[in-house]
Amino acid sequence: MKLLKLWVPLLALVCIGSVACKEAQGREDKPDSPTPDPVGSFNKFDWQPVIYDSTKQYIYLSFDDGPQHGTTTCIDLVRKEHVKASFFMVGLHAAQKPDGKKIVSMIRESYPELLLANHSYTHARDKYMFFYHHPLEAEQDFLQAQDSMKVPFKIIRLPGNSAWAERGHIKATHLVAPVTHLLDSAGYNVIGWDLEWSFQKKTSRPVQSATRLAAEVDTLLAHHKTHTPNHLVILTHDRMFQRPEDADSLARFITLLKQNPKYVFETVDHYPGVKIK
Ligand SMILES: [Zn+2]
Repeated sequence: MKLLKLWVPLLALVCIGSVACKEAQGREDKPDSPTPDPVGSFNKFDWQPVIYDSTKQYIYLSFDDGPQHGTTTCIDLVRKEHVKASFFMVGLHAAQKPDGKKIVSMIRESYPELLLANHSYTHARDKYMFFYHHPLEAEQDFLQAQDSMKVPFKIIRLPGNSAWAERGHIKATHLVAPVTHLLDSAGYNVIGWDLEWSFQKKTSRPVQSATRLAAEVDTLLAHHKTHTPNHLVILTHDRMFQRPEDADSLARFITLLKQNPKYVFETVDHYPGVKIK
C-alpha cells in the first residue's frame, strides 16, 4: 500500500499533461488489470476523509453543465484564488466541444483541488419530465456519463433538480425519487444545492451581485438553513462567467468568502456522509 502511494504521485508527475503518456499508461495497465475499475483508481487511493473542525463552516463551490464556454475561465480563476471547486460535467458537452475531452481530463487530473463529478450524459436533453418519468433510462444516461468521462467518484447531480442521496437517506421530490433511489442502490451519491447563483435566461449572466450572494451565504449558514448545518453547497454555471466583468464578479465573490476565517472551501467528495470507499 505504501509503495502504491509513492508510485501514484510519481506517475502523475511524469505523465502530467501528456495525453500520449496517459494512453500508453492505459495500455500498459491492461495485462495487470483484468477487471479495470470503471470509475478509475488513482483518486480512490489518494482519497482521505476530512476531519471537520467544529469552529469552521464548509463551502462547496460547484459549477454545472461544462465543458462549455466559460469553463476554462472558472478553472483559471479558482486556481488563482487557491480554492477548491467541483465541476459537474455533461458527457455530451465533452464529446461535442472540440476541446471538451481535454478540459474534462484537466479537471480530473487536478484533484484534489478540483473535482470532476457527473451531471449526466445528455442533460436530460432539457426535457426533464420525460427524462425523470423513465428512471431506468435516466440511470443509464448517468452511467454513460460516468464511463465516457471517467468520473473518479460516484457523485452525481441531477439536471434541473436539487435532490440528495447520502448518509443512507434520500431527499428527493416525487418526480426524481425513482431515479435517485436507483442511483443510491448502485452506490452513487446525489448532491443537490443550498444556494444558486442564478443567471439571466437569455444572456446567462449572473443575477445576484457578488456582495449580495456572499451575504446570502452568511445568512443561510448563520441560521442553519442548509441541507447539513455548517456545510453549504453553491450552484453556479460555467457559462455565466464568459465575460471578463462576470469573471471579475466570481473572483470578488470568492475573495469576500475568503475574508471570513471560518469558511473552508472543499470539494463535494468531502461533503458529510458521501460514500467514497
Ligand atoms: Zn445542469
